[in-house]
Amino acid sequence: MITSTMQADDLSITHIFQHGRKIHADSEILTYNGPDEPIHSMTFAEIGDRVDQLAAALSKLGVNVGDRVGTFMWNNHRHMEAYLAIPCMGAVLHTLNIRLFPEQLAYVINHAEDKVIIVDASIAPLLAKVREQLTTVEHIIVCGEGDTSGLGATVDYEELLAAEEPGYDYPIVDERSAAAMCYTSGTTGNPKGVAYSHRSTWIHSLAVTSSQTLSVNEDERILLIVPQFHANAWGMPYAAWWVGCDLVMPQQFLQAGPVADIIEATRPTISGAVPTVLADLLHNRPDADLSSIRYIVCGGSAVPRSLMESYDEVFDTEVVQAWGMTETSPLGAIARVPRTNSGDPFDYRVKTGRVLPGVEIRICADDGSVLPWDGDAVGEIEIRGPWITGAYYLDPTEEKFHDGWLRTGDVGAIDKEGFIQITDRAKDVIKSGGEWISSVDLENELMGHPAVREAAVVGVPDDRWDERPLACIVLNEDGSATVDDLSAYLTDRVAKWWLPERWTFIDEIPKTSVGKFSKKDLRASYASGELEVETI
Ligand code: ADP
Repeated sequence: MITSTMQADDLSITHIFQHGRKIHADSEILTYNGPDEPIHSMTFAEIGDRVDQLAAALSKLGVNVGDRVGTFMWNNHRHMEAYLAIPCMGAVLHTLNIRLFPEQLAYVINHAEDKVIIVDASIAPLLAKVREQLTTVEHIIVCGEGDTSGLGATVDYEELLAAEEPGYDYPIVDERSAAAMCYTSGTTGNPKGVAYSHRSTWIHSLAVTSSQTLSVNEDERILLIVPQFHANAWGMPYAAWWVGCDLVMPQQFLQAGPVADIIEATRPTISGAVPTVLADLLHNRPDADLSSIRYIVCGGSAVPRSLMESYDEVFDTEVVQAWGMTETSPLGAIARVPRTNSGDPFDYRVKTGRVLPGVEIRICADDGSVLPWDGDAVGEIEIRGPWITGAYYLDPTEEKFHDGWLRTGDVGAIDKEGFIQITDRAKDVIKSGGEWISSVDLENELMGHPAVREAAVVGVPDDRWDERPLACIVLNEDGSATVDDLSAYLTDRVAKWWLPERWTFIDEIPKTSVGKFSKKDLRASYASGELEVETI
């Protein structure tokens, strides 16, 4: 073996930062502040100086290499500054999910041992609720005006920055050191932490810009609807900074009305959001002008075919499905139509996604044996690669790993071209008489019915079959359909033994902290007898 002659620079977010501020000095970050306020705009050059100032200010507050700094923030330009300053100074950015229950929020801050938290004043009261339980936080930095009572002593973000000069002397970081961390939203048990390295973030950012994936390039303007606390906003902020593409930050204005207004005012070309947000825009603002948008990447849960079709028809905008998880940085697969396709593109668009170059996937049976990629064999999806976590932070959970592969907890099949089709999360699988019923498939079909706005299917105990599906339906305001109608509609579309016997019509499907259907809540409501259930 001969030694390579290549230079061995560490891969770091500092490189992404310095490249963006210098090469793309005029690219912009636009932050929406509500319908009556002007859109705030700053160039990468201006943001770059402020990043230096933030790093200097944090350093003066006692933040050292390896210390954790939490952000409790909406998507905005200051959050981007934190995304850059904290890792580049060698500290660790810990994005906090602002929708966690108070006990989970206190748990993750204490578990990560955050030393400083940067909070948007508009949500300071949510942090104040847990302030007394926080054992490691020494300083709270507040952005903007608002009620900060209950937080104790705070410092103002802009005052801190104003006291510093641009030109921070960033340390050289080890590429394998932690740059950022994110906790899963913990639908069962306590949330688990994932610590991304500089190296993993660098490589993932490169993967996000690839034309095989999100093809983020300089000409784009990304509307970042997915929160910066949800798996690093799917990697788009760092990718955007790297290639010099504009970012539009909607802050708390995430309802259909303001989102439509933001799109019309800023003309983004790409966006990213979970299906429930896209469904909200479709139902409440079908008149919105989305003509500037090339595509919207959508994931976090299965994207219903009917949603993609409606976006094609109503907005002439493509919805591209992607798959990933906090543990995978998050991008693992994307459903781009391959060049081999000669038929209906929807045959591919409705798949969960094709594995990204750079990571490996496989499916395993219950006994751990590896199953073939024939599109039929169904097992748990396992993944490994340079941006996939190899452990949880200070949480020994060996059962989540298998011979160096991450067990995703997702169940599905893989075809010979590397397209994954997820049928369920392992914890949501419905096992009826020993056979699996796919809740995802049932939901997809039900959401294709014109009267149905949302549908979630969960397994509930059954004396004869152990478990059977319960269909939870939200009808459109002007939609009407009976259980018989919906059952008849399903009859032509799924196996007869999949047809639910239990149905409930509700006003809204409960959502998780990142906007997915909360099946845990639905199962609990059923168990407590809260739901009015019709049986056939
Ligand atoms: P949480 O685990 O808190 O919901 P994540 O966003 O990390 O937060 O969730 C990752 C999970 O989301 C995946 O394991 C998978 O179950 C689901 N998911 C993500 N994208 C898709 C998709 N396109 N289709 C189906 N499920 C998806």
